Amino acid sequence: MPLKNQTLDKFAIAAALQEIASLLELKGGVSRFKGRAYQTGARAIAAVAGDIAKIIEDNRLTSLPGIGNALASQIKQLHVTGSSSVLDNLRQEFPPGIVELSAVPGLSNTKIAKLHEALGVTSLAELQAAAEAGLVRNVKGFGAKTEQSLLEAIANHNRDNKTAKRFLLHHAQRIGEQVLDYIRTARGLEEVSFAGSLRRWQETVGTIRVVASSKQPAALVEHFLRFPVIVKVEDQTDTSCTVELVEGARVSLRAVRPPQFPLALFWDTGSAAHVSKVHEIASRKGLELNRQSLKIQIIRTGKARPATSRVRSPEIKHEADIYPMLQMQYVAPELREDEGEIEAALRKALPEDLITLADIQGMVHCHTTYSDGKHSIEQMARAAEAMGMKYVTITDHSPTAFYAGGLKLDRLQRQWEEIDETQQKVKIKLLKGTESDILSDGKLDYPDRVLEQFDIVIASIHSRYKMNADKMTKCLVTAMQQPVFKIWGHALGRLIQRRPPFECDVERVLDVIAESRAAIEVNGDPYRLDMEPRWIREARKRKIKFVISVDAHSAGALNNLKYGVAMARRGWLQQDEVLNTLEAKAFAKAVQPA
Ligand SMILES: [Zn+2]
Ligand SMILES: [Zn+2]
Repeated sequence: MPLKNQTLDKFAIAAALQEIASLLELKGGVSRFKGRAYQTGARAIAAVAGDIAKIIEDNRLTSLPGIGNALASQIKQLHVTGSSSVLDNLRQEFPPGIVELSAVPGLSNTKIAKLHEALGVTSLAELQAAAEAGLVRNVKGFGAKTEQSLLEAIANHNRDNKTAKRFLLHHAQRIGEQVLDYIRTARGLEEVSFAGSLRRWQETVGTIRVVASSKQPAALVEHFLRFPVIVKVEDQTDTSCTVELVEGARVSLRAVRPPQFPLALFWDTGSAAHVSKVHEIASRKGLELNRQSLKIQIIRTGKARPATSRVRSPEIKHEADIYPMLQMQYVAPELREDEGEIEAALRKALPEDLITLADIQGMVHCHTTYSDGKHSIEQMARAAEAMGMKYVTITDHSPTAFYAGGLKLDRLQRQWEEIDETQQKVKIKLLKGTESDILSDGKLDYPDRVLEQFDIVIASIHSRYKMNADKMTKCLVTAMQQPVFKIWGHALGRLIQRRPPFECDVERVLDVIAESRAAIEVNGDPYRLDMEPRWIREARKRKIKFVISVDAHSAGALNNLKYGVAMARRGWLQQDEVLNTLEAKAFAKAVQPA
């Protein structure tokens, strides 16, 4: 860790704060709470856009989330002197390498101190070597048996780390942005991009893949390996490396020369199944496609002469050039799953007008302080307006969702009055809506005469996730057949990594929706991302319309929009299939309940 007499940048400061946090955690007791504060601080600093020096000079550190006076003074000290009194003191208290070593089950602080004293062990690798050489058994308090179980524990630990945990998309994106931020400070960098599952906007990301180009790729790798929040290098060559960051995320960088960038990006974006099929298609056409180049073999046969062949490597300036060379439509990264997109691209049958973030004109599915949201109607409206939206739908919970502060009629009346008042103050059009519970019999949660007065109705399941598939199907069919126009909210109720989609006959429900006054929500909450792309594609076959929603419980969550759009793209949706690409009046008409 570069803690010498030098000013530290935000990455090095974040790394130092993280180390303080880990050491405080190891101290245990009340220090743990302090540790958490330092961890929050590390995140806040790493997430600062641009230069930390300016913020420090202007004394604005305490305006960052979670940073109080004590933390601010340590950050200042780190920035100016390159060291921190708190960190120095903590390091004195513990043997070196304790953070890494304490991750092995069974290794207490005392044991680590003993090993350090007797054998000078300062890292996991050193401990493993010492145990393999039979040195640990001779340390007081350890024996042959303990040595053996330590070796097993280390092996398990290393294996667990190989199958690193998967991060939710928005977490991976936040960490990935910090990685890109750092790589962009490299001299000689030409291009850099996410690749892998992060570029394909998968719900969860195992390895954050990055492809970058420079005339000196090796220097780029060296630069990246100085990223201060790296805790472990798993793998390293001249042009690539895989590392683990403090938060447990795995990052893999591939560095190439500029002409190789488009192909490397294509290759590393995957999915493996997509790339392998495209590779096959290229071979069938007599082309040789690999990570470095695309070669076309031109074979000439003349009557008098024997056949000759010549290899040509056409210049590929952009990744998008690859597909047309194979007589295919361009395939956007979100579609590269080998789920029919290749065949469609060959037939020129992929959607031409795939939905984009810029197409969205209105924020759908917003909660406020009237139910379980954090911000007021006006705050939500102004935030949506600041994002360039033309309308926002206020859709708080209905009475059955009492745990989420669902609105009974009197409070609903008050909310409508407040919406009218707010409308006088803002330009953005406010629509009065509800997220009505779908009850066990499939009815919605307000009487029809009330439902008809809303501008928009979202109908969602919020309980009975374990209902049997038949009953659930019936319930949904009844709900979708209700006379008012409704939007099926977070369709199958999944919570990523926490709750699977509930069981029902989805195709049957889609058949009914196609014949009813209903549309389907693509929910952008990164914990939900519902419905799944395969079902979106099934629905669009039936010409069902969609809205892309944010399901926002705070103004900040309006940023969920990009995840909703990504899911819609993964489901191949075009602009004209998404209702909230319409301007305000047309949208209101399209979703009018009555
Ligand atoms: Zn809901
Ligand atoms: Zn909601």
